[in-house]
Amino acid sequence: MKYYSTNHKAPLAALEEAVTHSLAPDRGLYMPERIAKMPDSFFAEIQDMTFQEIAFEVAKTFFAEDIKVSELKAIVADALTFDCPVVEVGKDIWSLELFHGPTLAFKDVGARFMARMLGHFVKNGSYTGAGKINVLVATSGDTGSAVANGFLDVDGVHVYVLYPKGKVSPMQESQFATLGRNITAIEVDGTFDDCQSLVKEAFADTGLNSKLMLTSANSINVARLLPQAFYYFNAYALMKKKGLADELVISVPSGNFGNITAGLIAKRMGLPIKRFIAANNANDVFLNYLNTSKYEPRPSIQTVANAMDVGAPSNFARVIDLYGGSHDAICSDISGAAYSDKQIMQAMACCLKRNDYLPDPHGACAWQALIDGIKPGEVGLFLETAHPAKFATIVERATNVRIDIPQRLAAFSTRQKLSIPMRADYNDFKHLLEADC
Ligand SMILES: *Cc1c(COP(=O)(O)O)cnc(C)c1O
Repeated sequence: MKYYSTNHKAPLAALEEAVTHSLAPDRGLYMPERIAKMPDSFFAEIQDMTFQEIAFEVAKTFFAEDIKVSELKAIVADALTFDCPVVEVGKDIWSLELFHGPTLAFKDVGARFMARMLGHFVKNGSYTGAGKINVLVATSGDTGSAVANGFLDVDGVHVYVLYPKGKVSPMQESQFATLGRNITAIEVDGTFDDCQSLVKEAFADTGLNSKLMLTSANSINVARLLPQAFYYFNAYALMKKKGLADELVISVPSGNFGNITAGLIAKRMGLPIKRFIAANNANDVFLNYLNTSKYEPRPSIQTVANAMDVGAPSNFARVIDLYGGSHDAICSDISGAAYSDKQIMQAMACCLKRNDYLPDPHGACAWQALIDGIKPGEVGLFLETAHPAKFATIVERATNVRIDIPQRLAAFSTRQKLSIPMRADYNDFKHLLEADC
């Protein structure tokens, strides 16, 4: 299968090229040329299949033309070593828990899958023998931990995680800055936006790019984006088994809109989701687009749900592309909601009190959007994208409840930090990469 650019000014690319370059030469995002419907027989049996079986069937429709089926099966099995269960939270309100992976956030699914697919192409693709591939990723916390842990010890791939000094929590930092081996953490004396600019500049530097073979593990990369469709199918299967899948509304806490884009692609593949809600924090450019049909990106605002602090969602171009640019069509599938920090804090406390269920700040946003937006006869599912312990300080402040830190998280914090300090300067970054690679 070929991939086209959302800017339509670049040649079609093979999967390998889309994965190893992330962005098309015209700076557009890659989209699969065909989004095939899953067969009726698949939906007839889906409720009796495991997460891994469902993921494999969906993965085949995307990738089987480009990766041998036996190899693809191994990639799925290696990546998905945990489940994504649904939990009843209140009347007609369910949580899809996506935080049972190694770094306790939903990004584990896409990061682990992409790591294995990139590892496959390094071994079997046209890159064989051409040296290693270098993954650059800027993070404000969660992306860095999922990507670093997902790519740890993948042969032929080196990861550079850029993060702003003093602006990620010590617990998050410990998850990507203590690993070593093929993971280099770079502590940038600057902001998250500085980190992102450095990465963007490196991608735009064609000389450096062809020498070092740079790619991104953000949700702009199709190998991280598409596997996120797996858990939407699985959630449908779990709800169908309970007889609750007929009028399903899914609320997605959204930042770069990679998660919800995967859901929209699943719907396009025939998954019977009635509609989606995009839940935002104070960074509400998407809600604004729904209300006015104007897309006006802005600098991001810092909030208590910081993985959604995005002022120019990178996957917006894909949402537009999926609906052929029709604002009406987008509005008929997706509604929006946005909450202030105060409302998010109240939502955490309220959900705990009403339902004895403690969401993290991102999940709380999506829960509140369901409570406010669900209609009679509908069943709501919100995506709980991180374990609340990842945001312990905020969650404790909101609820006055002390939360236990799971062993898996606590184990990181005893390890030694191995970051390289760096100024927010492109020449310094370039020299570091050239000396290191
Ligand atoms: C990354 C992240 C989000 C936002 O996901 P997008 O795909 O960027 O929209 C939401 N919640 C958590 C916990 C995250 O880490």
